[in-house]
Amino acid sequence: MNVLVLNAGSATLKFQVVVTDADRIATDHDEKLIRGQIERIGGESVITLRLPDGSSRKRTAALRDLRAAVDWLVGFVTSTDSGTGLTARADLHAVGHRVVHGGEQFRNSVLVDEAVLRGIEENVELAPLHNPHNLRGIEAARAALGDGVPQVAVFDTAFHQTLPEHAYLYAIPYPLYRRHKVRRYGFHGTSHRSIAYRFRKLTGRARADVRIVTLHLGNGCSACAILGGESIDTSMGFTPLEGLVMGTRAGDIDAALLDYIGAKEGMSLPQVETMLNNQSGLLGISGLTNDMRDLLAEANELHDRRARLAIEMFCYRARKYVGSYLAGMGGADAVVFAGGVGENSPEIRARICEGLEWAGLRIDPAANQALVGGHEGRFSTPDAPLEAWVVPTDEELLIARDTYRVVCAVDAPKT
Ligand code: ADP
Repeated sequence: MNVLVLNAGSATLKFQVVVTDADRIATDHDEKLIRGQIERIGGESVITLRLPDGSSRKRTAALRDLRAAVDWLVGFVTSTDSGTGLTARADLHAVGHRVVHGGEQFRNSVLVDEAVLRGIEENVELAPLHNPHNLRGIEAARAALGDGVPQVAVFDTAFHQTLPEHAYLYAIPYPLYRRHKVRRYGFHGTSHRSIAYRFRKLTGRARADVRIVTLHLGNGCSACAILGGESIDTSMGFTPLEGLVMGTRAGDIDAALLDYIGAKEGMSLPQVETMLNNQSGLLGISGLTNDMRDLLAEANELHDRRARLAIEMFCYRARKYVGSYLAGMGGADAVVFAGGVGENSPEIRARICEGLEWAGLRIDPAANQALVGGHEGRFSTPDAPLEAWVVPTDEELLIARDTYRVVCAVDAPKT
């Protein structure tokens, strides 16, 4: 089955075409035909393509909205120019959409029908910056491919719907949960699920035997405690703002600060929230950048004090979360790193692991150094009771596989 995977944002559309089916899933031979993104939708859009032969290409096109962008994309990937071998729109058999918020309705990936569209709509108030664009992505794909092509919604929150009540509730008056759905939802679920699945394949474990802490460290960052293959706690909360120090997000703070900062700085509450989302984290502390690569260069080569501090805070917070999840699960078998930082920075990984020797985590520096650029593997010493791994996340692949499974109604999508 040729699956078009779409991740629609406000002005950006990320995409991939994946060939998958039961045999390919079983033998891990899914084929990625093309991927890329369209940016600045609404004006002169910039299209970045990674073609099947591995080459990259940039183009521009005037794409007035998401519908025009999806239409252009479908036209391009089915043209001979794309090198995909697809020659007609009918060669795209299904579409898998990344949808950010599934609220409490969606615990699994689902075939999109009118009821599902209403469900996504109902969760718009929980994710006003994301769900509307995801809905428009679904409408655009319908318009481009017709009603006959099945579409599947894969939710970022779904994997965390297994959190127990004591982990997902905030300790605030209980009626707020009932009346306004105030609770921890967690995000990056498709990523944590993808990492856990790959980890169990690499280590030959059954799903029920997966007891790990996963760290998705990209521009957005989150930690997840996975016990028996299921998410039992995660660091992002009602929104993606909570938890770890991120590129531009503060992560955990004292809620009383919103009012205090607002009063002192003459800012409204929404302005303070924007500051906590967009001007905090690594960027806020360093005053320089949210990009970890640049920050490491500033810290190591130019000895910038605040760059060092930002990195220290990033690593310390991540280590604290690992420690708390080890306590929450009564120990774990591995800490697994992923995301742009987790997959590429041995230095950050080492600094997060430093001080976890008490828990049995001992790293092999040479193995750690070797794991960059998409390589997967273990970097703890062979005798370490708590292992350390790098397992690159592949959300698009999981979305494509879920799409196949849902459309063909083969077993429930599992980690
Ligand atoms: P997003 O969350 O936007 O998908 P990514 O997962 O691509 O982001 O991660 C982006 C982050 O990964 C950036 O901070 C970038 O600097 C960092 N990164 C990428 N390569 C390296 C590297 N070699 N060393 C340190 N950080 C890196």
